[in-house]
Amino acid sequence: MTGNPQTNSPTTGSAAHSEADSGAQNALRTAVEQGLPTTIADLCALVRIPSVSWAAFDRAHVAASADAVVALVRHLDVFESVDIVQAGIPGGTEVGQPAILASRPARNGRPTVLLYAHHDVQPPGKDEDWESDPFTPTVRGDRLYGRGAADDKAGVMAHIASIRALVAAVGRDFDLGLALFIEGEEEFGSRSFATFLNENREALRGDVIVVADSNNWDVNTPAITTALRGNVTLRLTVRTLEHASHSGMFGGAIPDAMLAMIKLLATLYGDDGSVAVAGLTSIDVPTPDYSEEQLRAETGLLPGVSPIGHGSILSRIWSQPALTVTGIDAPSVDKASNTLTPSVSVRISTRIAPGQSSVEAAVAIETHLREHAPFGASVEIDDIDTGEPFLVDTSGWAVTEARTAMTDAWGTPPVDIGVGGSIPFIADLVRVFPAAQILVTGVEDPDSRAHSPNESLHLGVFKRAVLSEAFLLGRLNERTGH
Ligand SMILES: [Zn+2]
Repeated sequence: MTGNPQTNSPTTGSAAHSEADSGAQNALRTAVEQGLPTTIADLCALVRIPSVSWAAFDRAHVAASADAVVALVRHLDVFESVDIVQAGIPGGTEVGQPAILASRPARNGRPTVLLYAHHDVQPPGKDEDWESDPFTPTVRGDRLYGRGAADDKAGVMAHIASIRALVAAVGRDFDLGLALFIEGEEEFGSRSFATFLNENREALRGDVIVVADSNNWDVNTPAITTALRGNVTLRLTVRTLEHASHSGMFGGAIPDAMLAMIKLLATLYGDDGSVAVAGLTSIDVPTPDYSEEQLRAETGLLPGVSPIGHGSILSRIWSQPALTVTGIDAPSVDKASNTLTPSVSVRISTRIAPGQSSVEAAVAIETHLREHAPFGASVEIDDIDTGEPFLVDTSGWAVTEARTAMTDAWGTPPVDIGVGGSIPFIADLVRVFPAAQILVTGVEDPDSRAHSPNESLHLGVFKRAVLSEAFLLGRLNERTGH
């Protein structure tokens, strides 16, 4: 079923008008509500473009997506410059996917805010796993389904819709400085991000950076993401034999690589399934209540299977490391013969806690693997990729402004959340703009299933997210002293 988003946008769950709405906020609220059908129609048009940024996919789609976004940005008519920009990928001649970059300077002592989102998407996976076509935006109930409907084309549209609302409320001649950066390859590792930052430093400079690419607590409660885990991924190859041998002839006397790999991988975990690698650190931060029942419901944990780890459930996801074997190269079950396997490779994906450097974590993992190799097996580690974790300083004025804006928009204050996943480019932003205050907001909710089949956006959450950002821009436009 393909719904018509223009006539089917939900009104359920929308926050009541706040008693505290100022005149300016009333104008913003009206503009957001009146603009919502157009905003959702524009979002649907973006979702129809299959802008997968991975190397195996046609770059023409990402280019078409950049063209569509730049047209929306130009139409705002508030920026001094609007460009499609590409930057080189370090270590080669390849150029990154096209980003949209726009800026206008601040006046009269107002701050400058940089708005970030990305217009590329994850591959859709298998079509048959989707209830409706991934690139045909479809409304079912309160939700808009489609690849990128939430992550992160809704983030792109949240920025555009909140600027439209600001223009409707105060006109185009406002004092707030604005920069807009809509990346084209976030889902492919932001490979040209560091170069892009260096080459466009002035256009990107902001006192406040809003990264609209994260989650809300639930459909009725907003969140500010204050902690993100980093990551270390690597390929581990274990070798024990120069060549395969008949398992009946020699099995029992020499170790095959699978045996060595199984024993080595087992040393990475404690009995409760938590990570047992010396040198991987955790941090101790308070976490909201989150029950085992909720964990079971959100993850589809099978009856009788217990969760792993220790400490509060959210601390296991937000502030402790996690280690997963995400792939294995070994003889397949169908083609298995009675052979002692000479070598086995696995991909190890580690999430590291906020507060630890990814280089330090990578050294700890590598040291563990080399020290625990059984039977003197040969251990080879390569293809290492790292991303830094992130911890927000929540004492800045921008966090206070964002909390107020969210509270007014949702009718309830935001929860500070950690996120188990990683947005490694934030570390690059912090490095290049150490004085900027970074706000990680989002349009997703726990049922959005970003990166998975049946990704969706809750349209009530989307409206409240747009309203929050419109209120934030309105507040910053009136703020002096920063
Ligand atoms: Zn994203």
